[in-house]
Amino acid sequence: MNKAKIINKSIALEDLTIDEALFLYNNFNLQELSIIANNIRFKKHPTKNVSWIIDRNINITNVCISQCLFCNFCRKPNNVDSYITTIEEYKEKIKELIEIGGNQILLQGGFNPKLDLEYYEQLFKELKNVFPILKLHALGPPEIVFLSKKSGISNKEVLARLQKAGLDSLPGAGAEILVDRVRSIVSPAKCSSQEWLSVMLDAFKLGMTTTATMMFGHLETIEERIMHILSIRDTQKLKPQNSKGFIAFIAWPFQSKNTRLNERYKIDNQVNSSEYIKMVAISRILLNNIDNIQASWLTVGNNTAKICLHAGANDLGSIMIEENVVASAGISNKLSKDDMERLIIDAGFTPVRRNQQYELMLIDRIDNN
Ligand code: SF4
Repeated sequence: MNKAKIINKSIALEDLTIDEALFLYNNFNLQELSIIANNIRFKKHPTKNVSWIIDRNINITNVCISQCLFCNFCRKPNNVDSYITTIEEYKEKIKELIEIGGNQILLQGGFNPKLDLEYYEQLFKELKNVFPILKLHALGPPEIVFLSKKSGISNKEVLARLQKAGLDSLPGAGAEILVDRVRSIVSPAKCSSQEWLSVMLDAFKLGMTTTATMMFGHLETIEERIMHILSIRDTQKLKPQNSKGFIAFIAWPFQSKNTRLNERYKIDNQVNSSEYIKMVAISRILLNNIDNIQASWLTVGNNTAKICLHAGANDLGSIMIEENVVASAGISNKLSKDDMERLIIDAGFTPVRRNQQYELMLIDRIDNN
């Protein structure tokens, strides 16, 4: 194996094998990886536009019987501070979002035994009824599998019913590392890697857009990170031609503060800035069939996010006017609309707002699109 061959294959957007990907990780320095990733980024997005969105995270509930070891957010059903968000609370939060120019909410929750498929159908219908311009980016493959088992119907039927009720796109939540050895330790009650990927494939077949994620820097090996990324690339290949499939990939580092993963396995935050940028660049190189690579400013901070824009990333996600999950593990980064634009300009790029489908909004207003 030699470096020239890997560079040529990468720039030609050819698939790298797992051995080639490991060679890339082990033998290229950060500058070399960034140059290759940036080359691919400009092939896919020839302008200096960097996209971002105004949206809001709303947590449906904090009750979750999954109890993943990295999660500080979840509560057991009988905890005194457990909650289910009320319809009045949703309305207030969505009004605030619309007032500042956003129209997408990221709805996330957990495995709350009291909430069944009918509950979510009713919720989505009601929110869409009150706010017709609203876009719902909600739940994730583990919750779909949970609802499927609870209701005794297939994952695809659950997705189809939620889509009919108003679900616009499926976040890549709950992926962590798509290797069952890792999942069996960090999130043993969640769906398997294969189930996660198969729910995404069902979503593709229903014409639903989805994203893919990776939470890394805990118990996984480098090879397992690469296996994760390649399984996303290979699933994307199976999407029907008229489906967008995975519209973006977002990686973020595990945040250890006060987690049971930290207590039990003594794992602190292991991913420094260079390692994060390296994984962003490698993701861009390996994911030759996914257009958008997002840098997670929320977890790595503005300075690292800026460098990621020179290492393959073309999107900075949302200004996140409310975020509770990462905040519960010790992260408190915040950005206003102006801060986001300034960050992108300071990095040498042009900020452009996008909609939920990653389409650039060249006119700065929210349409009913
Ligand atoms: S990460 Fe999600 S599924 Fe896991 S315990 Fe937390 S809320 Fe539940």
